[in-house]
Amino acid sequence: MEHIRILSGVKRIALVAHDNKKKDLIEWAYYNRTVLSQHELIATGTTGRLLEEKLGRPIKKLLSGPLGGDQQMGAMVAEEKLDMMVFFWDPMEAQPHDSDVKALLRLAVAWNILMACNRATADFILTSVLMNEDYPVVVPDYSGYLSRKLIG
Ligand code: PGA
Repeated sequence: MEHIRILSGVKRIALVAHDNKKKDLIEWAYYNRTVLSQHELIATGTTGRLLEEKLGRPIKKLLSGPLGGDQQMGAMVAEEKLDMMVFFWDPMEAQPHDSDVKALLRLAVAWNILMACNRATADFILTSVLMNEDYPVVVPDYSGYLSRKLIG
């Protein structure tokens, strides 16, 4: 059965940026530091270190993205441990961990979490009136898939 998770108050926000996009993400986070201070922040290793330095607050840091951080984040999405992801991925440069990037983006869609992949969308999400309301997120039902007939 699909179920509803109510998003309210403090949100668990994941932040990731590829190297060419890190400056952009850090600037965005700094500009929005007051709003972000009301939420829990999680980041891949290097992004997290830079954010901690700039924001002067603790960030939960996973491994660096290419070393497993993207996959750790994907697991958190699947386990409903994240509410929102701001992922500034680089459209102009191939990544060594491209498969991990794709997997993370896929899981965010599969589990219907809030996701912004560029600054404009991140701004719209963060300033949405829904940020301050109880919002029922529909967590999709994959029971049909899980119980699919495979043998016989
Ligand atoms: P990083 O990882 O923050 O450790 O650089 C980002 C990524 O997933 O590429």
